[in-house]
Amino acid sequence: MRQGEFELIDRIGGLFRVPAGMKGIGDDCAVIPQTSEKDLLVSADMLVEKVHFLMDKISAFDLGWKSAAVNISDIAAMGGRPVATFLSIAIPENLDDEWMECFLKGYAAVSDKFSIALLGGDTTLSRDSLCINVTIIGECKHGAAVLRSSALPGDLICVTGHLGDSAAGLRCLLGDISCAETFSKAHCRPEPRVREGLLLSGMNGIGAMMDISDGVASDIRHIMSESRVGASIDVSKLPVSADLQEACSRYGWDPVELALCGGEDYELLFTCRKGAAIPVAHTVIGEIVQSGSLIWTDGPAKSEKNYRGFEHF
Ligand code: ADP
Ligand code: MG
Repeated sequence: MRQGEFELIDRIGGLFRVPAGMKGIGDDCAVIPQTSEKDLLVSADMLVEKVHFLMDKISAFDLGWKSAAVNISDIAAMGGRPVATFLSIAIPENLDDEWMECFLKGYAAVSDKFSIALLGGDTTLSRDSLCINVTIIGECKHGAAVLRSSALPGDLICVTGHLGDSAAGLRCLLGDISCAETFSKAHCRPEPRVREGLLLSGMNGIGAMMDISDGVASDIRHIMSESRVGASIDVSKLPVSADLQEACSRYGWDPVELALCGGEDYELLFTCRKGAAIPVAHTVIGEIVQSGSLIWTDGPAKSEKNYRGFEHF
Protein backbone atom coordinates (compact mmCIF):
# COMPACT_ATOMS: atom_id res chain seq x y z
CA MET A 1 0.00 0.00 0.00
CA ARG A 2 1.23 3.50 -0.77
CA GLN A 3 2.11 5.62 2.23
CA GLY A 4 0.01 8.73 2.93
CA GLU A 5 1.08 12.25 2.05
CA PHE A 6 2.16 13.11 5.57
CA GLU A 7 3.99 9.79 6.16
CA LEU A 8 5.99 10.40 2.98
CA ILE A 9 6.90 13.94 4.07
CA ASP A 10 8.01 12.54 7.47
CA ARG A 11 10.18 9.97 5.70
CA ILE A 12 11.80 12.62 3.49
CA GLY A 13 12.45 14.75 6.58
CA GLY A 14 14.07 11.80 8.36
CA LEU A 15 16.72 11.52 5.64
CA PHE A 16 18.19 15.01 6.12
CA ARG A 17 19.67 16.84 9.06
CA VAL A 18 18.44 20.41 9.64
CA PRO A 19 21.34 22.82 10.32
CA ALA A 20 21.34 24.39 13.79
CA GLY A 21 19.20 27.50 14.08
CA MET A 22 17.07 26.67 11.02
CA LYS A 23 13.50 25.39 10.93
CA GLY A 24 12.91 22.85 8.17
CA ILE A 25 9.98 20.60 7.26
CA GLY A 26 6.87 20.79 9.41
CA ASP A 27 5.76 24.40 9.20
CA ASP A 28 4.22 26.64 6.55
CA CYS A 29 7.67 27.97 5.71
CA ALA A 30 11.27 27.09 6.43
CA VAL A 31 13.00 29.69 8.62
CA ILE A 32 16.63 30.57 7.82
CA PRO A 33 18.28 33.15 10.09
CA GLN A 34 20.15 35.85 8.10
CA THR A 35 21.43 38.39 10.60
CA SER A 36 20.87 39.03 14.29
CA GLU A 37 17.87 41.08 13.17
CA LYS A 38 16.31 39.21 10.28
CA ASP A 39 15.14 35.70 9.30
CA LEU A 40 14.37 34.52 5.78
CA LEU A 41 11.14 32.56 5.19
CA VAL A 42 10.88 30.15 2.25
CA SER A 43 8.02 28.00 1.00
CA ALA A 44 7.11 26.11 -2.20
CA ASP A 45 3.70 24.98 -3.42
CA MET A 46 2.68 23.11 -6.52
CA LEU A 47 -0.62 23.23 -8.43
CA VAL A 48 -1.28 20.37 -10.82
CA GLU A 49 -4.03 20.24 -13.45
CA LYS A 50 -6.72 17.61 -12.69
CA VAL A 51 -5.49 17.42 -9.07
CA HIS A 52 -5.77 21.03 -7.86
CA PHE A 53 -7.75 22.58 -10.71
CA LEU A 54 -9.63 21.80 -13.92
CA MET A 55 -8.89 23.98 -16.94
CA ASP A 56 -12.57 24.35 -17.85
CA LYS A 57 -13.59 25.33 -14.30
CA ILE A 58 -11.17 28.16 -13.51
CA SER A 59 -10.17 31.13 -15.65
CA ALA A 60 -6.53 31.70 -16.53
CA PHE A 61 -6.53 34.99 -14.58
CA ASP A 62 -7.94 33.33 -11.47
CA LEU A 63 -5.48 30.43 -11.65
CA GLY A 64 -2.60 32.91 -11.91
CA TRP A 65 -3.96 34.81 -8.91
CA LYS A 66 -4.45 31.63 -6.91
CA SER A 67 -0.99 30.21 -7.70
CA ALA A 68 0.65 33.27 -6.16
CA ALA A 69 -1.95 33.77 -3.41
CA VAL A 70 -1.64 30.30 -1.87
CA ASN A 71 2.11 30.84 -1.52
CA ILE A 72 1.73 34.35 -0.10
CA SER A 73 -0.62 32.78 2.43
CA ASP A 74 2.20 30.53 3.72
CA ILE A 75 4.30 33.63 4.47
CA ALA A 76 1.27 35.24 6.19
CA ALA A 77 0.94 32.04 8.25
CA MET A 78 4.38 32.67 9.81
CA GLY A 79 3.60 36.34 10.48
CA GLY A 80 6.10 37.33 7.78
CA ARG A 81 6.34 39.91 5.02
CA PRO A 82 6.38 38.43 1.49
CA VAL A 83 9.28 39.67 -0.66
CA ALA A 84 9.62 37.74 -3.93
CA THR A 85 8.47 34.67 -5.85
CA PHE A 86 9.95 32.27 -8.41
CA LEU A 87 7.51 30.79 -10.94
CA SER A 88 8.11 27.45 -12.66
CA ILE A 89 5.67 26.17 -15.25
CA ALA A 90 5.40 22.98 -17.29
CA ILE A 91 3.18 23.95 -20.24
CA PRO A 92 1.24 21.46 -22.39
CA GLU A 93 1.66 21.86 -26.17
CA ASN A 94 -1.96 22.84 -26.78
CA LEU A 95 -2.03 25.79 -24.36
CA ASP A 96 -2.32 29.05 -26.28
CA ASP A 97 -0.41 32.30 -25.68
CA GLU A 98 -3.55 34.23 -24.82
CA TRP A 99 -4.27 31.84 -21.93
CA MET A 100 -0.74 32.37 -20.61
CA GLU A 101 -1.08 36.17 -20.87
CA CYS A 102 -4.21 36.07 -18.70
CA PHE A 103 -2.56 33.69 -16.23
CA LEU A 104 0.37 36.10 -15.81
CA LYS A 105 -2.00 39.06 -15.41
CA GLY A 106 -3.69 37.28 -12.48
CA TYR A 107 -0.34 36.32 -10.98
CA ALA A 108 0.85 39.93 -11.30
CA ALA A 109 -2.36 41.39 -9.86
CA VAL A 110 -2.04 39.69 -6.48
CA SER A 111 1.77 40.11 -6.46
CA ASP A 112 1.38 43.87 -7.04
CA LYS A 113 -1.25 44.09 -4.34
CA PHE A 114 1.34 42.92 -1.80
CA SER A 115 4.34 44.57 -3.54
CA ILE A 116 5.98 41.23 -4.28
CA ALA A 117 8.62 40.94 -7.01
CA LEU A 118 8.96 37.99 -9.41
CA LEU A 119 12.68 37.17 -9.51
CA GLY A 120 12.95 33.98 -11.54
CA GLY A 121 11.65 30.50 -12.21
CA ASP A 122 11.74 27.87 -14.93
CA THR A 123 9.72 27.15 -18.08
CA THR A 124 9.41 23.78 -19.78
CA LEU A 125 7.15 21.74 -22.03
CA SER A 126 4.79 19.21 -20.51
CA ARG A 127 3.63 16.11 -22.41
CA ASP A 128 0.49 15.99 -20.30
CA SER A 129 -0.95 18.31 -17.64
CA LEU A 130 -0.21 21.91 -16.79
CA CYS A 131 1.93 22.07 -13.67
CA ILE A 132 2.70 25.26 -11.75
CA ASN A 133 5.24 25.51 -8.98
CA VAL A 134 5.80 28.68 -7.01
CA THR A 135 8.57 29.29 -4.52
CA ILE A 136 8.16 32.30 -2.29
CA ILE A 137 10.56 34.06 -0.01
CA GLY A 138 9.65 36.42 2.79
CA GLU A 139 11.20 37.86 5.89
CA CYS A 140 10.50 38.51 9.53
CA LYS A 141 12.29 39.86 12.59
CA HIS A 142 14.80 37.34 13.94
CA GLY A 143 12.96 34.79 16.09
CA ALA A 144 9.54 36.35 15.39
CA ALA A 145 8.18 33.67 13.00
CA VAL A 146 5.03 32.16 14.51
CA LEU A 147 5.48 28.38 14.42
CA ARG A 148 2.96 25.54 14.51
CA SER A 149 4.82 24.25 17.58
CA SER A 150 4.07 27.12 19.99
CA ALA A 151 0.58 26.22 21.24
CA LEU A 152 0.13 25.68 24.99
CA PRO A 153 -2.67 23.92 26.90
CA GLY A 154 -5.30 26.51 27.82
CA ASP A 155 -4.73 28.59 24.63
CA LEU A 156 -7.80 29.74 22.72
CA ILE A 157 -8.09 28.40 19.15
CA CYS A 158 -9.10 31.15 16.73
CA VAL A 159 -9.64 31.68 13.01
CA THR A 160 -9.83 34.79 10.84
CA GLY A 161 -12.69 35.33 8.36
CA HIS A 162 -15.29 32.78 7.30
CA LEU A 163 -14.79 29.06 6.70
CA GLY A 164 -16.32 26.89 3.97
CA ASP A 165 -17.00 29.52 1.28
CA SER A 166 -14.17 28.20 -0.90
CA ALA A 167 -15.41 24.60 -0.56
CA ALA A 168 -18.89 25.82 -1.53
CA GLY A 169 -17.35 27.53 -4.57
CA LEU A 170 -15.78 24.25 -5.64
CA ARG A 171 -19.06 22.41 -5.16
CA CYS A 172 -20.91 24.95 -7.32
CA LEU A 173 -18.25 24.74 -10.04
CA LEU A 174 -18.24 20.94 -10.11
CA GLY A 175 -22.02 20.65 -9.91
CA ASP A 176 -22.63 23.44 -12.46
CA ILE A 177 -24.72 25.28 -9.87
CA SER A 178 -24.82 29.06 -10.14
CA CYS A 179 -22.19 30.32 -7.74
CA ALA A 180 -22.66 33.23 -5.28
CA GLU A 181 -19.88 35.77 -5.74
CA THR A 182 -18.73 35.13 -2.15
CA PHE A 183 -18.00 31.51 -3.07
CA SER A 184 -16.29 32.05 -6.41
CA LYS A 185 -14.13 34.80 -4.93
CA ALA A 186 -13.14 32.64 -1.94
CA HIS A 187 -12.34 29.69 -4.20
CA CYS A 188 -10.71 31.39 -7.18
CA ARG A 189 -9.23 34.58 -5.74
CA PRO A 190 -8.34 33.98 -2.09
CA GLU A 191 -6.98 37.02 -0.24
CA PRO A 192 -3.91 36.03 1.77
CA ARG A 193 -4.06 37.37 5.34
CA VAL A 194 -0.69 39.12 5.29
CA ARG A 195 -1.77 42.13 7.36
CA GLU A 196 -3.42 39.93 9.98
CA GLY A 197 -0.41 37.61 10.15
CA LEU A 198 1.93 40.54 10.77
CA LEU A 199 -0.30 41.96 13.50
CA LEU A 200 -0.66 38.56 15.17
CA SER A 201 3.09 37.92 15.14
CA GLY A 202 3.59 41.12 17.11
CA MET A 203 0.84 40.33 19.61
CA ASN A 204 1.65 39.59 23.23
CA GLY A 205 0.40 36.08 23.97
CA ILE A 206 0.41 34.63 20.45
CA GLY A 207 0.76 30.82 20.45
CA ALA A 208 0.90 28.77 17.24
CA MET A 209 -0.23 29.82 13.77
CA MET A 210 -0.75 28.30 10.30
CA ASP A 211 -2.93 28.97 7.29
CA ILE A 212 -5.93 26.79 6.49
CA SER A 213 -5.24 24.95 3.25
CA ASP A 214 -6.65 21.46 3.89
CA GLY A 215 -9.49 22.43 6.27
CA VAL A 216 -9.42 23.06 10.04
CA ALA A 217 -10.17 19.36 10.70
CA SER A 218 -6.86 18.42 9.10
CA ASP A 219 -4.82 21.54 9.83
CA ILE A 220 -5.44 21.66 13.61
CA ARG A 221 -3.80 18.21 13.77
CA HIS A 222 -0.52 19.76 12.57
CA ILE A 223 -0.59 22.28 15.42
CA MET A 224 -1.42 19.39 17.80
CA SER A 225 1.45 17.19 16.67
CA GLU A 226 4.04 19.98 16.39
CA SER A 227 3.05 21.43 19.80
CA ARG A 228 2.39 18.01 21.41
CA VAL A 229 -1.02 19.07 22.70
CA GLY A 230 -4.67 18.19 22.16
CA ALA A 231 -7.53 20.39 21.01
CA SER A 232 -11.22 20.80 21.67
CA ILE A 233 -13.26 22.45 18.92
CA ASP A 234 -16.88 23.58 19.20
CA VAL A 235 -18.56 23.07 15.82
CA SER A 236 -21.38 25.44 16.82
CA LYS A 237 -18.85 28.30 16.89
CA LEU A 238 -17.52 27.94 13.33
CA PRO A 239 -17.72 31.25 11.43
CA VAL A 240 -19.99 30.54 8.47
CA SER A 241 -21.07 33.33 6.10
CA ALA A 242 -24.74 34.22 5.60
CA ASP A 243 -24.37 33.17 1.95
CA LEU A 244 -23.10 29.74 3.00
CA GLN A 245 -25.92 29.28 5.51
CA GLU A 246 -28.42 30.17 2.82
CA ALA A 247 -26.85 27.81 0.24
CA CYS A 248 -26.72 24.99 2.80
CA SER A 249 -30.43 25.24 3.50
CA ARG A 250 -31.21 25.49 -0.22
CA TYR A 251 -29.08 22.52 -1.34
CA GLY A 252 -29.13 20.40 1.83
CA TRP A 253 -25.38 20.82 2.40
CA ASP A 254 -23.82 20.39 5.84
CA PRO A 255 -22.21 23.74 6.80
CA VAL A 256 -20.00 22.09 9.45
CA GLU A 257 -18.61 19.60 6.93
CA LEU A 258 -17.85 22.41 4.45
CA ALA A 259 -16.33 24.67 7.12
CA LEU A 260 -14.09 21.98 8.62
CA CYS A 261 -13.20 19.62 5.79
CA GLY A 262 -13.45 21.56 2.52
CA GLY A 263 -10.12 23.32 2.72
CA GLU A 264 -8.59 26.11 0.63
CA ASP A 265 -9.94 28.77 2.98
CA TYR A 266 -6.52 30.43 3.29
CA GLU A 267 -7.64 32.01 6.54
CA LEU A 268 -5.32 31.96 9.56
CA LEU A 269 -5.72 29.35 12.30
CA PHE A 270 -3.96 30.52 15.46
CA THR A 271 -3.83 29.95 19.19
CA CYS A 272 -3.24 32.55 21.89
CA ARG A 273 -3.14 32.90 25.63
CA LYS A 274 -6.51 33.64 27.27
CA GLY A 275 -6.95 37.35 27.87
CA ALA A 276 -4.58 38.36 25.02
CA ALA A 277 -5.70 41.53 23.20
CA ILE A 278 -6.21 40.04 19.71
CA PRO A 279 -5.58 42.82 17.16
CA VAL A 280 -7.53 41.31 14.20
CA ALA A 281 -11.12 40.27 13.47
CA HIS A 282 -11.42 36.63 14.52
CA THR A 283 -13.68 33.90 15.92
CA VAL A 284 -12.79 31.69 18.89
CA ILE A 285 -13.64 28.09 17.93
CA GLY A 286 -12.07 26.07 20.72
CA GLU A 287 -9.29 25.52 23.19
CA ILE A 288 -5.94 23.72 23.31
CA VAL A 289 -5.98 20.91 25.88
CA GLN A 290 -3.28 18.86 27.54
CA SER A 291 -4.36 15.38 26.37
CA GLY A 292 -3.19 14.44 22.87
CA SER A 293 -6.68 13.92 21.45
CA LEU A 294 -8.95 16.01 19.24
CA ILE A 295 -12.37 16.52 20.79
CA TRP A 296 -15.33 17.82 18.82
CA THR A 297 -18.17 19.46 20.77
CA ASP A 298 -21.45 20.94 19.57
CA GLY A 299 -22.12 23.63 22.16
CA PRO A 300 -22.16 21.89 25.56
CA ALA A 301 -22.81 18.45 23.98
CA LYS A 302 -20.20 16.11 22.51
CA SER A 303 -20.37 16.02 18.70
CA GLU A 304 -21.16 12.66 17.13
CA LYS A 305 -18.82 13.01 14.19
CA ASN A 306 -15.05 12.82 13.93
CA TYR A 307 -14.23 15.27 11.14
CA ARG A 308 -11.24 14.84 8.84
CA GLY A 309 -9.80 17.30 6.33
CA PHE A 310 -8.54 16.95 2.79
CA GLU A 311 -5.57 14.67 1.99
CA HIS A 312 -4.04 14.36 -1.48
CA PHE A 313 -3.27 10.60 -1.43
P1 ADP B 1 1.30 23.84 3.31
O1 ADP B 1 -0.08 23.29 3.16
O2 ADP B 1 1.44 24.86 4.38
O3 ADP B 1 1.92 24.29 2.00
P2 ADP B 1 2.21 21.15 3.24
O4 ADP B 1 1.17 20.34 3.95
O5 ADP B 1 2.21 21.20 1.75
O6 ADP B 1 2.21 22.63 3.82
O7 ADP B 1 3.63 20.67 3.71
C1 ADP B 1 3.92 20.46 5.06
C2 ADP B 1 5.43 20.54 5.29
O8 ADP B 1 6.08 19.52 4.56
C3 ADP B 1 6.06 21.84 4.85
O9 ADP B 1 7.03 22.20 5.81
C4 ADP B 1 6.70 21.50 3.51
O10 ADP B 1 7.85 22.28 3.25
C5 ADP B 1 7.09 20.05 3.71
N1 ADP B 1 7.12 19.25 2.46
C6 ADP B 1 6.07 18.90 1.68
N2 ADP B 1 6.46 18.14 0.64
C7 ADP B 1 7.81 18.02 0.75
C8 ADP B 1 8.81 17.37 -0.03
N3 ADP B 1 8.52 16.69 -1.15
N4 ADP B 1 10.11 17.47 0.39
C9 ADP B 1 10.43 18.14 1.49
N5 ADP B 1 9.52 18.78 2.27
C10 ADP B 1 8.23 18.73 1.91
MG1 MG C 1 0.35 26.51 4.88
